[in-house]
Amino acid sequence: MNNSTALVAALRAVLPPASVLSDQEDTRPYECDGLSAYRQLPMAVVLPADEAQVLAVLRICRELNVPLVPRGAGTGLSGGAMPIADGVVLSTARMNQVVRMDAYSRTAVVQPGVRNLAISEAAEEHGLYYAPDPSSQIACTIGGNVAENSGGVHCLKYGLTVHNVMRVRMVTIEGDVVELGSGALDAPGLDLLAAFIGSEGMLGIVTEVTVKLVPKPAAARVIMASFDDVVAGGNAVAAVIAAGIIPAGLEMMDRTSSRMVEPFVRAGYDTDAAAILLCEADGTADEVEEEIARMTAVLQAAGASAVQVSTSEAERLKFWSGRKNAFPAAGRISPDYYCMDGTIPRKHLARVLTGIAQMEGKYGLRCANVFHAGDGNLHPLILFDANQPDELQRAEAFGAEILALCVDVGGTITGEHGVGIEKIDSMCVQFRDAELAAFHAVKSAFDPLSLLNPNKAIPTLNRCAEFGKMHVRAGRLPFAGLPRF
Ligand SMILES: Cc1cc2nc3c(=O)[nH]c(=O)nc-3n(C[C@H](O)[C@H](O)[C@H](O)COP(=O)(O)OP(=O)(O)OC[C@H]3O[C@@H](n4cnc5c(N)ncnc54)[C@H](O)[C@@H]3O)c2cc1C
Repeated sequence: MNNSTALVAALRAVLPPASVLSDQEDTRPYECDGLSAYRQLPMAVVLPADEAQVLAVLRICRELNVPLVPRGAGTGLSGGAMPIADGVVLSTARMNQVVRMDAYSRTAVVQPGVRNLAISEAAEEHGLYYAPDPSSQIACTIGGNVAENSGGVHCLKYGLTVHNVMRVRMVTIEGDVVELGSGALDAPGLDLLAAFIGSEGMLGIVTEVTVKLVPKPAAARVIMASFDDVVAGGNAVAAVIAAGIIPAGLEMMDRTSSRMVEPFVRAGYDTDAAAILLCEADGTADEVEEEIARMTAVLQAAGASAVQVSTSEAERLKFWSGRKNAFPAAGRISPDYYCMDGTIPRKHLARVLTGIAQMEGKYGLRCANVFHAGDGNLHPLILFDANQPDELQRAEAFGAEILALCVDVGGTITGEHGVGIEKIDSMCVQFRDAELAAFHAVKSAFDPLSLLNPNKAIPTLNRCAEFGKMHVRAGRLPFAGLPRF
């Protein structure tokens, strides 16, 4: 019996037959996540229905020394859920129940495979919703959100996943069931919940999450402000925050982005503007009116050439629909696009945007800039055609240089999409050896056998040493050694 046959037989002994996939035609849909340039078939995919089945799978992986990759909806953009050739993918697709909705304490207890938007849909009858709203919220799961510490338009005001999750129940590779956090605002002991959120499936498998819910605001309106140059738009973002306003959303799109989106969604964008800002106010009707007036004044003082305020809920949603559909719209104008995710101090927005514009010339590729401007979280979409010789390599080098610039201005190489396999070399730019060693120590405290999503997110010191040499000699070679399609 070879390894694969023994593994599948062991898994079939503990799970129903339909919950273990091993034929290539069944495992093919799991070969990649949203970073689709990189694919790998696993030995098997399992679809446990509850925590007991998760524990049974982990026991088998432990006993047979087989690596395991957790997977939610597979919308991740950094390869976090990409399979390992001699490993198992554990999909949470069948663990998709809202366990409890508690309107009184404004919390919901959900299984990991519940979709982000489904939480808000379930809370709607109580006038509540779950605030973090990734653009992928129609599909992505709360387990994936916890693993990536996901953000979204509303996170500037309401916080990221880490600020909206109170408790995580998870299982370790050693078979322990652990509860991190609590139902209260604080929990005694080390804050392992914060360490776990954003750990990209490397420390344990999430089996249940308690999230905070917030009241749906009575009113919300959004401003669309146009700017004749991107630098002025970037400075206007800093001016809004400096004026002491925390908008419910503060997003920016450059002209390439608005022209890409408009024919697709008809959001009503000013496609002549070099950049548009979307600034939302929410609260009571009076609060909204006051904040809209204050933001309008700041934007005009910062040089906005036009300011339009939504006059109905339908128009507010229309303005947002363009922003939310920016990534799919990129797919309509370019055979391929590479979505970067870096974060910078807001005051450097203009400088970084100018740098990206210069890199477009250097690499001979267009870049559409769409981002959570209020958080300083950039999403440059590098447009390329993988069928043209060298374009993927140029896109990767372009992306790596953007991240290096983010680090250079005091920012980070990821805002919300995680490191996965995509940015593992950029971690060598961001962190020193001692810091990486501390990350490895945390990983091995949870997963001493290194079976959970190994070789993702944290580079080995050897890898960084090699990368340093390549960096000096031949420019960046991201993803070296990984299969590419
Ligand atoms: C069009 C588009 C728009 C996007 N917009 C945003 C955005 O606005 N903000 C944002 O933050 N992200 C965004 N993303 C990225 C992505 O949707 C998020 O990272 C999301 O949280 C991934 O959730 P998922 O369920 O698809 O997880 P997956 O992609 O399946 O997995 C992501 C990571 O989580 C781990 N994981 C999954 N489930 C578990 C579990 N139960 N236990 C432990 N680890 C687990 C995986 O191993 C992997 O490392 C976008 C993606 C797309 C395609």
